[in-house]
Amino acid sequence: MTHKHWCEIGKHEWDCDGTQAIRTWAGMTEPTPCVAMPDNGIELVTCPAHREGERRSFPTGQEAADVLKIYDALICAPDNSPEFKEAMRILSEYILGKD
Ligand SMILES: [Zn+2]
Ligand SMILES: [Zn+2]
Repeated sequence: MTHKHWCEIGKHEWDCDGTQAIRTWAGMTEPTPCVAMPDNGIELVTCPAHREGERRSFPTGQEAADVLKIYDALICAPDNSPEFKEAMRILSEYILGKD
């Protein structure tokens, strides 16, 4: 029996058969079985399509905030300072991916 989840990345509901939900907010990397939700309850789980996008491409949420902070640091710091080098390292990890 399928049920709905709420995808916070794409802001939409999606149908789940009970085996597809990876609770990334709980640090999960593999699907875990869905438990029954209370009446009218809908569990926040990123849909499979957006989950791939989230992992592979653009940073979202907290990560985006972190990147903005890094850009700030780059603007303020001299090119040869440790802050600049650290910021460049972190930024290149975001750009190149963490895997
Ligand atoms: Zn989605
Ligand atoms: Zn589910």
